[in-house]
Amino acid sequence: MITVSLIPIPLRIAALTQERNSLLEYPVERLASVIREIGFQCSSCAKCCTRAFNGHVFLLDRDVTAVKTIDPAAIEPAPAPEFCDQNGIFYVSGYAIRIQDDDGGSCWFLENGKCRIYERRFTICRIYPYMLHREADEKGCVDWRQFCGLDQHGEYNAAIPENESLDLARETKEYENAFLTQEIRFLEFMQDYFSRHRLRHVQKVYDDGMRRFNRGEEITVMVYYDGLLERHRITKQTEP
Ligand code: SF4
Repeated sequence: MITVSLIPIPLRIAALTQERNSLLEYPVERLASVIREIGFQCSSCAKCCTRAFNGHVFLLDRDVTAVKTIDPAAIEPAPAPEFCDQNGIFYVSGYAIRIQDDDGGSCWFLENGKCRIYERRFTICRIYPYMLHREADEKGCVDWRQFCGLDQHGEYNAAIPENESLDLARETKEYENAFLTQEIRFLEFMQDYFSRHRLRHVQKVYDDGMRRFNRGEEITVMVYYDGLLERHRITKQTEP
């Protein structure tokens, strides 16, 4: 498999733009019908709010703006930066919610199994476990994925009213559109930034830097937020 950061930026922008066009054509009613068919109901197990179950929680810019007012310590550069320049500086497209230093890697806002900012939780938290993007399955078959972690959490076959399913479907589609748009903006920004500052992505420097990071050394990461880059010095957190 080719490393994503080695694919030229214009090709990545074109692929994401095509992905967004397909998303915009996807009928909301179809997603709403999948939502009703699955009938998911949250059982408050709180698994989805842990890194052990769900990896990291990537935030849209508007959610970063909100979290900065709630608790600025609750965000960290999203993992797996997209680029590293010849000087060893990493670049990533946004922030993720920080995790706590506990066994399961609980979200920063999870307290006694409950979200302590539930009424103000972020877009991704509101639509989860629904999603709408294309992904390859274990056999390599690329198709739309609309649900995360089927049969691994929550309860099923609940009766979901049509208007509720349509609202969820619209919000899910809107989130995926905002996510792709943010990624495209980041790539367009980086294309221009690298060219203006005579920088380039160097995979060997990236790999060496990641090795140092994984050994516990500090690295510099520039995080794309609100049309600019924010500088951070980070060290690896202990994995749950
Ligand atoms: S913000 Fe709340 S709902 Fe979202 S992952 Fe954290 S604890 Fe869960």
